[in-house]
Parts: sequence; C-alpha cells; structure tokens
Amino acid sequence: MGSCFLFVKGLRHTAGVNLTPMSEALLGIDLGGTKIAVAVVQDGKIVKKIVTPTPKEGQEAVFAEIVRVGLELMREFEVTAIGLGTPGPLDFVKGIVKFAPNIHGFENAPIVEALSRGFGRHVELENDANAAGLAEHVYGAARGAQSSVYYTVSTGIGGGIILNDRVWRGANGIAGEIGHTISIPGGPFCGSGIAGTLEAVASGPAIARDASMALGRPVSTKEAFDAAKAGNVKALRVVDQAARYLGSSIADVQKFLDPEIFVVGGGVAEAGDFYLDRVRAAANSELDGFTPAIIRKAVLGTDAGVIGAALAARP
Ligand code: ADP
Repeated sequence: MGSCFLFVKGLRHTAGVNLTPMSEALLGIDLGGTKIAVAVVQDGKIVKKIVTPTPKEGQEAVFAEIVRVGLELMREFEVTAIGLGTPGPLDFVKGIVKFAPNIHGFENAPIVEALSRGFGRHVELENDANAAGLAEHVYGAARGAQSSVYYTVSTGIGGGIILNDRVWRGANGIAGEIGHTISIPGGPFCGSGIAGTLEAVASGPAIARDASMALGRPVSTKEAFDAAKAGNVKALRVVDQAARYLGSSIADVQKFLDPEIFVVGGGVAEAGDFYLDRVRAAANSELDGFTPAIIRKAVLGTDAGVIGAALAARP
C-alpha cells in the first residue's frame, strides 16, 4: 500500500491498514433496552458509531451482538481501551448487571467476563447515567468544572455524581440513584415499586400521567408541555409541580454536596428553558441563604452514553 493518507474524522489511515492514531481512540458501548450503540471515540468526538437493536433472546445474544459490532469497529480502528455503560444496579466487583428490567434475561448477567472474553481484552463497566454524567462533565455542559451532578429526566430519572473529575460510585456502587430518593413519603409508586420517589412524581411518564388526569384526556409529556406553553392553566400547574420536585431535589443535593454545576439531560430537558427556568426557580427558592445552584441543560444528547462509556475506560 502506498503512502496515501486519509483523514477519517481525526484518525490517520491508509486504506485497510490501521496506523497509530493521533491520540488515544477508545471504544464506548452504550447498552439500552431497545438499542445498543457502539462507537470509536477520540478526544470526546465520535469517529464512527454503529447502532443495532438489542436482541430479545437473552443474555448470550446481547453479549454476542455487542462483540460482533465492537469487533467490526476494531477491525477498522485501533482502540486502546473498551468501556461499557449499562443500566443497573451493577456489582462492580463481580462485573455483573444484577438486573435490568428493560433488557430481556438480564439478571445476574456476567457482562464483564463475557465481553472481555469476546474482545480478548478487559472491558470497563460503568452505570449508564454515571457514564453520561462523566461525558457531560468532561466534554459537555459541565466542561471545566471539577465537580458536577447530572440528572437524566426521561422515562425514569437517573443521576451521576462526578467529584474531582471522577465518577463517585459510592461504597456499594449505588451512588447517584437520585430517581429513587423520596420526594413525597407514601406518594405515588414508580416502576421500582417504591412509593413517592422523585421518578414517580417528576419523570416524563409522571408528567404525562398527571397532565392526562388534569386535562381529562390522554396526553404525552411533550403535549403536556405544549399545552402549558400555550397557557393552559391546568397543564401549567402539572409542569410547575414536576419542576418543583426536581428543583427541590437539586436544592437538597446543593446543600449536601455543593457541586459546581448541575446538568439536566434526558428527553424531558428537551422542553428547554420553559422547563429549566422553573426548575431553577424552584431550586433557588429553597437555597435562600445558601449559594444558588447553577443548572445547565445537557449538550451531548444521546451521544453522552457512548462518549461516557469510552471515557470510563480511561486508565
Ligand atoms: P429514554 O427514557 O428511553 O432514555 P428519553 O431520554 O428520550 O428516553 O426520555 C423519554 C421521555 O422524555 C418520555 O417521557 C418523553 O415523553 C419525554 N420527552 C421526549 N421529548 C420531549 C420534549 N420535547 N418535551 C418534553 N418531554 C419530552
């Protein structure tokens, strides 16, 4: 092969031959209930990404699909490390997903061992919300800060705590499970069966549920926001209430951890400043006499998952 160099989004290649990358390229894997995203990531940028549906035939099929797609990318690009972001709860010592209700057959799934065997090298495990939080911290809305707390407000509510530029997993790996903290003791139930959690009162489905009840017809979360933006008082009350619960949680974390920045991502954050300004007002009304919380919208979108997974693989 001649010396015909091609620049492929930051990696130097000759046709079919992998050369030393200009800087470390990492493989990030984001495992979700409906899809698996696998990407080569370099300097926080996605060089190439493949998205494939999550198999429904159980653990082995999921492992095999991740390895198939990962090896396809690794044939094309040299990567120095592999990281995986997955829903949890996780056992970081054993390298297993204890259970993930949205992924068929994922109970005590020995994912680190299976993937490390498939790839022939170690795969670093991370909780998916921690990974997304890390990506926003290093390359996104909290770039430049040393500490940040990430909330993803989506079908559920997840969180990630980044302290001194590292994910804080806690003694048992459950740190950041902010969606399962209690907003209303004895309140409505969420998917995990715990009453009155933040997730049960402020997630996307919670907003859709409360707005549907208030409006007397089924509406999606986005329709609830659209109605509120158009001045519908009942919808506005629902949105205000959900924002108040999220803001209150942020105010608690501000008093407790005092991170530099809060980042809010997930589908509901797409409602934009109409939503986030209400969250800010609610948080800061509880922070009178303390320092106001700095609350920013996430900027990396769904790519935060693979970028954060890749970052988790850094030594
Ligand atoms: P997932 O939970 O699968 O990770 P998302 O992060 O996209 O997916 O979150 C989905 C939730 O976000 C749903 O409740 C959906 O109704 C809500 N959502 C999506 N887009 C918007 C929007 N523009 N405004 C308000 N809510 C939205």
